[in-house]
Amino acid sequence: MPELRHNLLTREWVIIATERAKRPEEFAAEKKERKAVPAFVPTCPFCPGNEKLTPPETYAVRGASGWRVRVTPNKFAVLSYEGQRVRSFQGIRRTVSGVGIHEVIIDSPDHSKSLALLSDAQAGLIIQTYLNRFLFASQDPRIEQVTIFKNHGEAAGTSLMHPHSQMIAAPVITSQLRDRLMNALQHFDEYGECIFCHVLDQELREGTRIVYESDHFVAFVQFAALTPFSMLIMPRRHMACFSEISDAEAADLAGNLRHTLAKLYFGLGDPDFNYTIRTAPTEYTGVKYYHWYLSVIPRLTKMAGFELGSGMFINVSLPEENARFLRKIIVE
Ligand SMILES: [Zn+2]
Ligand SMILES: [Zn+2]
Repeated sequence: MPELRHNLLTREWVIIATERAKRPEEFAAEKKERKAVPAFVPTCPFCPGNEKLTPPETYAVRGASGWRVRVTPNKFAVLSYEGQRVRSFQGIRRTVSGVGIHEVIIDSPDHSKSLALLSDAQAGLIIQTYLNRFLFASQDPRIEQVTIFKNHGEAAGTSLMHPHSQMIAAPVITSQLRDRLMNALQHFDEYGECIFCHVLDQELREGTRIVYESDHFVAFVQFAALTPFSMLIMPRRHMACFSEISDAEAADLAGNLRHTLAKLYFGLGDPDFNYTIRTAPTEYTGVKYYHWYLSVIPRLTKMAGFELGSGMFINVSLPEENARFLRKIIVE
């Protein structure tokens, strides 16, 4: 019989559809072969030498041979950097002027290498850049919510091949984030503990859904994972906000993320995926009840009518099997 599992963190129900569950290998088999990609593409705006094809750079990490990570405003920004945040109310209609920050973070000068194939040191520079941009956006008084994310592959929404990440800093906070903050606060008030620390402790104790452990972070598939192979990479130390990360933790996150993505890359044949940093806004720094993490979501299945119509999810794989499969993929 299928089993419904409750996701403690998102409060969503997931049908673990064992009747139609696929074996882990079957997800890889469905994947089309990607074409070989050269390290440099003369027409690519993100390749070195083509810097004039992007809006002026806002931040970069440089080495002896030029930039190693580069940040520019998104040429097709969804929010505008210039302008004031103005709210207007007309009857029951509410609007806010579309100010915000939409930046592209170019992961490395190499056009062909996704994060899974980069060095831990390069991944470390990417995390440092995320932190810099997160802090930059967070101190802007017009900004309420900062989202750092990556779209990898067509099914994940990429329009440009050169590996990159993005940041969108918005002038409003979503009900999704505020609800999760409130849910975590309510759990803290009722049980006297951080709900995320509780989940992490339990995952470490059971061990069956752990994918990869490093000194400061743990990558695992949730008990009620909403989709196949979706994972959380959670800091062991309790921290509400991404900006509380130490240098040692940032370096360790880089290695853990690179490692976890390499397991996906080699285990499932470079699947399309998104990842995003789920953090409380900086004004929540130090609170005892929220705990930031990075969420990795391979795009192996599509959301269909039932999911859209019900808010319930169908996962056609077993989280424990997903984790066992990925644990066995050994990467350097
Ligand atoms: Zn390129
Ligand atoms: Zn915690």
